[in-house]
Amino acid sequence: MRILLIGPPGGGKGTQAKNLMSKFNIPQISTGDMLRKHVKEMTSLGIKAKKFMDNGELVTDSIILNMMKERLIQKDCNNGYILDGFPRTIPQAEGLDKLLNSLNSPLDKALVIDVNDQSIIDRMGGRRVHPSSGRIYHIKYNPPKEKDKDDITGEPLIIREDDIKETVKKRLKIYHQLTSPLISYYSTKNILVTVDGTLSINDVYKSILKKIND
Ligand code: AMP
Repeated sequence: MRILLIGPPGGGKGTQAKNLMSKFNIPQISTGDMLRKHVKEMTSLGIKAKKFMDNGELVTDSIILNMMKERLIQKDCNNGYILDGFPRTIPQAEGLDKLLNSLNSPLDKALVIDVNDQSIIDRMGGRRVHPSSGRIYHIKYNPPKEKDKDDITGEPLIIREDDIKETVKKRLKIYHQLTSPLISYYSTKNILVTVDGTLSINDVYKSILKKIND
C-alpha cells in the first residue's frame, strides 16, 4: 500500500497519516518531520532548509528529492508507506515517478484531504506539537489530556514557528500556486481520491478507509 496525502498545511495530513500508519503497519514518511530533525541536529541540509521553513516557503526540489531517494529505499518501505507532505510541487512528483518506476513500485492512491482556507486559518491558531515525537494536538478539536502537555511523555507542547498567522497565509498561497496542481497531475494518472477534510478527525478517517479500499 503506497499512498500519498495531498492537502493544505494544517489540513490534517499528519493526523490521518498516523492513523493509517497504525492500521496498515507501514511507515508515515513526513518530509516536514525529516526536515525538522535535520534542523534540530543542525546538519548541513538542516541549515539550508531552516531559512525556507521559518519563512513558510518550500525547501528546494533538489534537496527534497535527494533526501527522499535515500528514504524510500530503506527496508521499512518494502511493504508500502504513507507520504505526508511530499511531493509538494510538480517537479517533485515527476522526480518521485521516476524513482518509483526504477524501483518498479508505483503509487496506489493519491488522497486529497480537502479543506478550505478559512478553516485552515482557524485550525492553525490552536495547533500544538510535541517536538520530539511529532504528535499533533489541537486545543479545541484534539486536546491533550493535560493542558499543553504531551499525553505520552508529559513533556511540554509547543506552537511551531510556521503555524503563526502571517506564515499560515503565505503557506496557503504557496499551496494553491505550487501544490494544488498535483490534484490534476494524479487525476490524469487515475489514482486520485478526495475526502472532505472539514469533518471530524474520526469521520475523515472513516471516509479515507472507504476510499482507499474501493
Ligand atoms: P509540513 O510539516 O509538511 O507542513 O512542512 C513544514 C515545512 O517544511 C514546509 O513549510 C516547507 O518549508 C518544508 N517542507 C516539507 N515538505 C516539503 C516538500 N515536500 N517540499 C518543499 N518543502 C517542504
